Amino acid sequence: MTRASLRPDLAFLTQLGILGARPRVGYYYAGKNPYQGMLEKIMNLRVRDFFSVPVAVSEHTTIYDAIVALFVNDVGTLFVVGEGQILEGIVSRKDLLKITLGKCNLNQMPVGVIMTRMPNIVTTTMEESLWTAARKITSHEVDALPVVKKIVKDNQEILKVVGRLSKTNITKAYVDLGLGKLGKGENEN
Ligand code: ADP
Repeated sequence: MTRASLRPDLAFLTQLGILGARPRVGYYYAGKNPYQGMLEKIMNLRVRDFFSVPVAVSEHTTIYDAIVALFVNDVGTLFVVGEGQILEGIVSRKDLLKITLGKCNLNQMPVGVIMTRMPNIVTTTMEESLWTAARKITSHEVDALPVVKKIVKDNQEILKVVGRLSKTNITKAYVDLGLGKLGKGENEN
């Protein structure tokens, strides 16, 4: 067997953390079992490597226009923001579906009337681990989290929306893990 034919396998074991690799020393057993290595990889994935662009509307946007925005942007959740992309609320596809069952005027009623409001919104940050964010999604039974940046204004903490993390992003990360693609920046910390 040649060195070259072994190299991809050694590289894979190094990626999993089972082997370590040092220049001029070579490969050595890192003392981790495959499960520990994989667990560490999962825990090191960060939201910043998997989030999507946020889709936001204003609280004055009509229900009709919000539904159009949902389709045009191919998302299931809209964030409701004020000036400077500050988070004010969230509307899901079911919130919108529910209101269409009533007899209200969709072209007049604003999303502000039906949205879930701050401070009752579950959020994540770019630095948070993807696993913690995924756990928030499952435990709060929601489809998406706004990725936010905390800003202090007039001694008050407010949240600026900088991204969107949905169940789809988590699914993509899971598929990437299976393919051995472990997220761009995950070795930075
Ligand atoms: P749907 O019910 O349309 O499938 P969700 O499960 O995401 O969508 O939302 C369920 C409810 O929770 C909705 O009323 C929605 O306004 C609210 N909601 C959605 N996302 C969040 C969030 N990140 N934090 C708090 N509430 C949310």
